[in-house]
Amino acid sequence: MDVRIHEAYNNLIHSLDLHTDELYALYTATREPLRPLAKLYFLAKITIDVELDPDIFTLKGGKAHLETTYDENVADREHARKVVYDSGLNARGIVHFYPVAGHEWTDEEWVDLDTLGWTMYLCFSRARLMNNLNRAKHLDIMTGLLNNSGINKAAGALLRRGYASEDYVSMFLNIRNMKILNRSYGNHVVDRIIRHFAGCIYHAIDTDKELAARLGGDNFFLIILKENREKILKLLKNIRYTVEQDGDKTELHIESRIGLYECDPGISIEQIMQRTGYAFETARRAAQDMVCYRPEMQERVLHQKWITLVFPEALARKEVVPFYQPKVHAKTRQLVGAEALIRWIRDGKPVPPGEFIPYLEHDSLITKVDLYMLEAVCRDLRGWIDMGIEPVRISVNYSRRNFLRKTLAEDTLAILDRYGIDGKFIEIEVTESSFYEDFQALFDFTQKMHDRGVAVSMDDFGTGYSSLSMFKNLAFDVVKLDKSFIDSLDSGNCKDEIVVESIASMLTRLHTDIVAEGVETESQLGRVINLHCNIIQGFFFDRPLPYQEFQNRLQHRVYA
Ligand code: C2E
Ligand code: MG
Ligand code: MG
Repeated sequence: MDVRIHEAYNNLIHSLDLHTDELYALYTATREPLRPLAKLYFLAKITIDVELDPDIFTLKGGKAHLETTYDENVADREHARKVVYDSGLNARGIVHFYPVAGHEWTDEEWVDLDTLGWTMYLCFSRARLMNNLNRAKHLDIMTGLLNNSGINKAAGALLRRGYASEDYVSMFLNIRNMKILNRSYGNHVVDRIIRHFAGCIYHAIDTDKELAARLGGDNFFLIILKENREKILKLLKNIRYTVEQDGDKTELHIESRIGLYECDPGISIEQIMQRTGYAFETARRAAQDMVCYRPEMQERVLHQKWITLVFPEALARKEVVPFYQPKVHAKTRQLVGAEALIRWIRDGKPVPPGEFIPYLEHDSLITKVDLYMLEAVCRDLRGWIDMGIEPVRISVNYSRRNFLRKTLAEDTLAILDRYGIDGKFIEIEVTESSFYEDFQALFDFTQKMHDRGVAVSMDDFGTGYSSLSMFKNLAFDVVKLDKSFIDSLDSGNCKDEIVVESIASMLTRLHTDIVAEGVETESQLGRVINLHCNIIQGFFFDRPLPYQEFQNRLQHRVYA
């Protein structure tokens, strides 16, 4: 082959690499590098028609026509030579070579031209594929909606085309009960549900002016014109999907959780996504169907992020310590126990748990924190025992999230063992609401604690919805009446007294101890004693105390 042909090919391929983005680039790329060759071979015009079958990237096939004229003096169509190139997979190319009018190609010339055509076709279809691949970078393969980078690019383009952000609302949504759907129907069905869900959204929006993206999993993001907001919300409330299993058909109602943001003027797509995300995060945490963005959400979500970021460091630096709030026997006024309450010492001041525990509870970090507290308590107990001070039973709070951890009981007992602490000195407090969330896990945990003499108590009783069967089936040792119960006694409503008295007498007969939490006044104390609640934890006797002060209480024991 003529060396100049080689050169031309090289030029061609080189220019392709520079311009794979647009089909049109090939058109310009083929034109100039081939011009000297065209002259040499009396080539006046070349046309290429490419047909691509649908491929997995675009889900669409396509046809393209490309034409380059090198010499105005083109022979008629009947003098053109046609060659069909088939890649054998999913593409065909038909190339027509037109000679300069009056020229007849020799066999030798024709072999060179044929090779040239084949190469051009290869380059051309490669450019097509690159182009499609490029587009596929912005599409979600499973649903055909935009993906994460696609929504960014498309939203930017939308705003640049003159659409104003304040005309839009954005929504972050995900499908509720995904775990249950996955467990009941398996991945395949869930994938179909996601595709169906995406399809419903896609058909409801105006794709010229509105955008829909799937951001992975069952997370979707929409940018909708304000005037269509109600229409879309209505649609989202009414998506159904029929599953067929073993010949049975079940119609499922596919519900979603939504964070919504009414876009402000002049706002960027990054800010839109961020604010919608804050609304969604708030909805998720409050277990609500839909939440609209408010500026203070940003602060809360950022605070949450900040806490989860700095808290491990605080633990490592031992800035987190237990304070001990005494529990006192109402009649004998003897110190009978204490609750360990977490405090974060920042800049010398104790930060109360309300400012960080709720933020950790959505994170597996809470388990680390609770076990850290248990360890700190065991360490303190060990110290008192070694000093010859007789300790009392100390209760430690366990967040309900801990019960997701399979080895919780083993991890708990290992800490007691490490410090050689007898189980009788430890009590684990679990909030009332945990009791009906994962009954089995809690049942197993309680059994393992009892085997080692560790007590388990139900904290904040009266704030959840305990059922009578729970009292029967779960053998907890202590029930802690929530402060709100104690406060209600002051209201003079005799119904409250009847309720508390009945619960107290039932628990006494079940050999369960009762602790009244939040007793602040003499009159509350009197009423609580009348109702046969004998153990008191409240400001009336003591606030939560730092280590040294509590040690003093351990050494004196009796309250005046
Ligand atoms: P809780 O377990 O119900 O603890 C009792 C709370 O009531 C404590 O608040 C205590 O200071 C407060 N309190 C006790 N007596 C009185 C009183 O007479 N009047 C008033 N107004 N309050 C009283 P604190 O220390 O702020 O703890 C709040 C909650 O934080 C705890 O409620 C518990 O749910 C959680 N918490 C504390 N420490 C931990 C921990 O180590 N792990 C976990 N997971 N949660 C913890
Ligand atoms: Mg507690
Ligand atoms: Mg409580």
